Amino acid sequence: MNIPCLDIQRQYRLIKSEVLAKTEEVFDSNAFSGGPYVEQFEKDFAAFCESEFALGCNNGTTALHLALLALGIQAGDEIILPANTFIATAWAISYVGAIPVFVDNDASTWEIDVNQIEAKITSKTKAIMGVHLYGQPFDVDAVLALAKKYNLFVVEDAAQAQGARYKGKPVGTLGDVGCFSFYPGKNLGAYGEAGGLTVRKESYAQHIKSLRNHGMVQRYYHDEIGYNYRMDGLQGAILSIKLKYLSAWNARRKEIAHRYQTQITNPLITMQAKPEWADSVYHLFVVTTQDRERFSAYLAEHGVQVGYHYPVPCHLQKAYQYLGHQVGDFPHAEYLASHCVSLPMFAELTDEEVDHVIHVVNQYA
Ligand SMILES: *Cc1c(COP(=O)(O)O)cnc(C)c1O
Repeated sequence: MNIPCLDIQRQYRLIKSEVLAKTEEVFDSNAFSGGPYVEQFEKDFAAFCESEFALGCNNGTTALHLALLALGIQAGDEIILPANTFIATAWAISYVGAIPVFVDNDASTWEIDVNQIEAKITSKTKAIMGVHLYGQPFDVDAVLALAKKYNLFVVEDAAQAQGARYKGKPVGTLGDVGCFSFYPGKNLGAYGEAGGLTVRKESYAQHIKSLRNHGMVQRYYHDEIGYNYRMDGLQGAILSIKLKYLSAWNARRKEIAHRYQTQITNPLITMQAKPEWADSVYHLFVVTTQDRERFSAYLAEHGVQVGYHYPVPCHLQKAYQYLGHQVGDFPHAEYLASHCVSLPMFAELTDEEVDHVIHVVNQYA
């Protein structure tokens, strides 16, 4: 048996004929950039997220950038985010010239540590960007309470969490703007690059539509500096197809996660703590262990492939050296970075494969 950490080909084989028929339709109708298939996907995704508005764009990183632009974040503003996240959360802050202000991740939930946010708020702070890391919601109410107290925006980086719920409500709709990635490996993945946003205010939706399309409302009249961040028609059409299956795929991920959580009993393995209000969609199933090189070599020997998400926390990346952080600044994020191991997690894993992963992990000594 050789079990990959992620195999997106299995899902493609299930929907191949539907996708290829749709591809022909999109190409025949000349709807290559934006257009009716993107608009349809925006309607479908807004309904899925129970959001007033959804907008498509060309990837998750630009979704985050558009969010900060729409909120009017400017050079010198400070934005709070967790130290352990995929780097793109921080990129968006840098793209608008703002300053990423990191806080540590919680020792047990591994999400942004909401108890450490307040100490980081200054007169320059404009927003808190929470990340629903690994598909599990962070403590949104605690963040919203701080945002209200200090008059800050809340941006949700929901790139890993399409369909996750916080206290029964879909993520992406809880703060001012929700940002999604439809990178091929995400729970809802395009066959190419794509991203999206959910917003409550119509004015934000209108502004984002203009920003992603060269800053124009009327063709060839550019009211502000804009971007080419449009979604491809093809990706919109493919995402509408895949969205129909997303709830079933997420349900299967939850089933696999439940088996891992209840049947992996090896005391050398630690799992992400899940508060009862968090309905995760398990984009990744991350565990920690003391000696991860030995653990992953052992797993590979027994036909189980793993990944590390992510091996270096944002504050210790070379790109952010200028912020002057040091090892020890955010001990929980650093611990995660050097001890995390992502077990195989995708909807098409067979029961036999899940059995094998559980068996092999339990035999590790
Ligand atoms: C994937 C991801 C992004 C970026 O999305 P892209 O579509 O790859 O640009 C941003 N934030 C998080 C947390 C992600 O996992």
